[in-house]
Amino acid sequence: MSSTTVLRPAETSAGALDDARAQLATATRLLGYDDGLHAMLATPRRELTVAVPLRADDGSTRLFTGYRVQHNLSRGPAKGGLRYSPTVTLDEVRALAMWMTWKCALLDVPYGGAKGGVAIDPRLHSTAELERVTRRYTSEILPIIGPERDIPAPDVGTDEQTMAWIMDTYSVNSGYTVPGIVTGKPISLGGSLGRSSATSRGVVHIALAALRARSIAPSRATAAVQGFGKVGRDTARFLGDADVRVVAVSDQYGAVHAPAGLDVERLVAHVAATGSVVGFDGAGALDRDLLLELDVHLLVPAATEGVLHEGNAARVTAPVIVEGANGPTTQAADRVFADRGQLVVPDILANAGGVIVSYFEWVQANQAYWWAAHEVEARLADRMLAAWDSVLATAAAKDLSLRTAATVLAVERVAEAHRLRGLYP
Ligand code: NAD
Repeated sequence: MSSTTVLRPAETSAGALDDARAQLATATRLLGYDDGLHAMLATPRRELTVAVPLRADDGSTRLFTGYRVQHNLSRGPAKGGLRYSPTVTLDEVRALAMWMTWKCALLDVPYGGAKGGVAIDPRLHSTAELERVTRRYTSEILPIIGPERDIPAPDVGTDEQTMAWIMDTYSVNSGYTVPGIVTGKPISLGGSLGRSSATSRGVVHIALAALRARSIAPSRATAAVQGFGKVGRDTARFLGDADVRVVAVSDQYGAVHAPAGLDVERLVAHVAATGSVVGFDGAGALDRDLLLELDVHLLVPAATEGVLHEGNAARVTAPVIVEGANGPTTQAADRVFADRGQLVVPDILANAGGVIVSYFEWVQANQAYWWAAHEVEARLADRMLAAWDSVLATAAAKDLSLRTAATVLAVERVAEAHRLRGLYP
């Protein structure tokens, strides 16, 4: 006999949404937009909350809550990741969807912004349970997704296997294979070469440009990377390849520190074997959150939102902070960093490599024509560095922070698309 357990999502935390709304408000004020246009830009076009029942391996039934938010559709289909985390809330997904809109506009990929989430801890479930959750969530949001409507991708707690299950569920319901429904797929199912490392490659292109902008030669720079998942791990690798000395990394369980520099490949092997950076014999142990306060030239938060906040900003001394994660810096921390002249490269620029190569993957899938790895990487670098140049030029011309300059550029493009299309009816 089966029992029913209801797992509630965590209490709503409006922190990330407050930050996203405040950033938009600053941009629309600088652009002189009226209240109507501001409200249009601040409000998601569609939000779907779904119940996701799971038949667990032990025969019991459990219920999770899932979300898909489409923030804006003015420039094209909605695009954004899918997150599996016990702390996912509707407000968090709203914030992440809004940032996706600005990211796609800033990098000039022809998408609006979206995000999805299921309030579930994937570490507590078998592969079979995660497959059933993914297929059920997909079938619940089926009416609003599609290669011309809304295209999910991996985010925290999801990966290429998750995307393969979404693609299969969507394709079975369509009656034919639809590779353009998701990006971040396995290569053998139409994924793009270079997609899995694209976010980290982009972070490192931007980090090197930011160090140079501060006259710090990469070969004499030290770095700390928070998070050792899909983004953090390859960021540490590629920084090492560029001669930057990565002295510390962390994950949710702890941090490791080696002032002479970490052997990142050995650390990757340790994490593959044990599931965490903790206990790595090539470095000393460090308190997880003290990583953020290390005396390094470059700090890359690549884990989650709100980690640089009022309580620790004054102790964060890195002159260059490059946001690998979405929303790692709160408004209060942003003010502290601005007052002290630290250079913060915002998420919508720094971690946009993933959505750029997702766009390339979607183009390749829709044309059934595949590009070589070197083509993907060259086009990624061109787009990232062109966006860096335009954000830097706007910041200098208007005396703005990089975050505000990037948001202004992006919001202007979305508003222009909205104006040209007009308001229906
Ligand atoms: P992931 O699930 O692969 O990895 C997350 C990592 O962060 C894990 O190592 C986890 O242990 C660690 N972590 C969680 N909380 C932590 C804490 N408090 N301190 C230290 N480490 C902590 O997720 P990901 O795909 O690497 O995403 C990380 C961030 O990058 C998220 O903000 C995500 O939205 C953003 N992002 C991801 C992509 C992508 O392509 N995957 C693209 C753009 C932005």
